[in-house]
Amino acid sequence: MRVNVSSHDLKVLDHKHHLHPFTDHGALGIDERRVISRADGVWIWDTDGNRMLDGMAGLWCVNVGHGRQEIVEAVRAQMSELSYYNTFFKTTHPPVIELSRMLAELAPEHMNMVFYGGGGSDANDTIFRLVRVYWDLMGKPTKKTIISRHNAYHGSTVAGASLSGMGGMHGQGDLPIPGIHHIAQPYWFGEGMQTGMSEDEFGIWAARELERAIDEIGENNIGAFIAEPIQGAGGVIIPPATYWPEVNRILSERDILFISDEVICGFGRTGEWFGADTYGTKPDMMAIAKGMTSGYLPMGGVIVSDRIAEVLHEKGGEFYHGYTYSGHPAACAAAIANLTIMKREKLVDRVRDQIGPYFRQRWLALGDHPLVGEARMKGLVGALELIPDKNDLSKRFGNIGAAGTIARDHSFNNGLVMRAVRDSLIVSPPLTISEEETDEFITRARKSLDDAAASISAKGAI
Ligand SMILES: *Cc1c(COP(=O)(O)O)cnc(C)c1O
Repeated sequence: MRVNVSSHDLKVLDHKHHLHPFTDHGALGIDERRVISRADGVWIWDTDGNRMLDGMAGLWCVNVGHGRQEIVEAVRAQMSELSYYNTFFKTTHPPVIELSRMLAELAPEHMNMVFYGGGGSDANDTIFRLVRVYWDLMGKPTKKTIISRHNAYHGSTVAGASLSGMGGMHGQGDLPIPGIHHIAQPYWFGEGMQTGMSEDEFGIWAARELERAIDEIGENNIGAFIAEPIQGAGGVIIPPATYWPEVNRILSERDILFISDEVICGFGRTGEWFGADTYGTKPDMMAIAKGMTSGYLPMGGVIVSDRIAEVLHEKGGEFYHGYTYSGHPAACAAAIANLTIMKREKLVDRVRDQIGPYFRQRWLALGDHPLVGEARMKGLVGALELIPDKNDLSKRFGNIGAAGTIARDHSFNNGLVMRAVRDSLIVSPPLTISEEETDEFITRARKSLDDAAASISAKGAI
């Protein structure tokens, strides 16, 4: 496409005509942007000829790696057979049936039906509506409040951004909408170690925030608790080992729904098919997207438990909800091909038993760097916390986010895509990354930390 346009001219056109997501357009220089034009395996190329290791798997989604012709071919074949038909009016089609069967098989035992959409945000919109409809059907219409957590990410639509616990998002346009209550997150490095509690004690405390919120608001008024198994966009917050067992204890005693937002953790990221498997939770609904198609086409959905499905079947009547592209045939074909690759290549076992432990061991070794206060990783998702003083792990940089951005920029320049969240660097590589590529990843990451430390000390205090 536009092959004769120079890299600079592409950037000018992008600057003039393209509104980017989550971007400060006033601050983004024309030539500061990168035009990514090609990708293969764990590598991406830009139009200036740079080759970079994609340490974020696109945006947490390209689990099987880039350039899989098997998925391309499956989509092409589906599009020439049936490129679109809806699933609204007593109609269905073979790829959506096949994908639903596959997902029911992969999901926990008690979850067997799937509702489709175009991504993670609208999956959470669907969930928001389903929670309310479910309790209305159960004759308990006061159970409408949804409990979420500070620094959660559940998407960018009105419901998604409201369920999210991001201050910046809530500051724009009068969010959150009513009926959502946010509790503390289980963020040991950021909020726990400063309390004087041990990590395990802090995990219990954070879990019991749920119990306290239920008691305060009243169980009669609570519809659901929504959480990511590991918070992703919030900075890869891996909870203390005590957190999920205590949440599970609380949920088993209370009559509220549990929603696992599996948009990042689903499809192998944590070394099991779902984060719910890794942490032993029992969701009533799971939001899925990202790794579902490895990002080859946009798709998301909600997997519901038998408990929800039965109520919808027996008492529901029509659920007045759906998207034109619910169960889009080409996206279904991409998802089926993607999951087929994951199963054939045993990528989930590989993350749990082989490449995950290997990557983790090498990643945790970066914790010895003078700029790093904590290195953490679960499955193939991890973070490095950057700090100003290795002798005092509780100290933070004065200007929050500056050090993270400096390190992130060096990382790009060293041919490695890592993302900055506040003053941490986060990674989520394709599940197909080899040991050799992991070594290359770590070498580039360490060089980027060295470069960032040099830049920061050259600047003096930041
Ligand atoms: C990305 C993400 C979403 C939103 O998904 P989109 O496809 O961007 O709408 C929701 N929840 C989590 C946990 C995510 O990481």
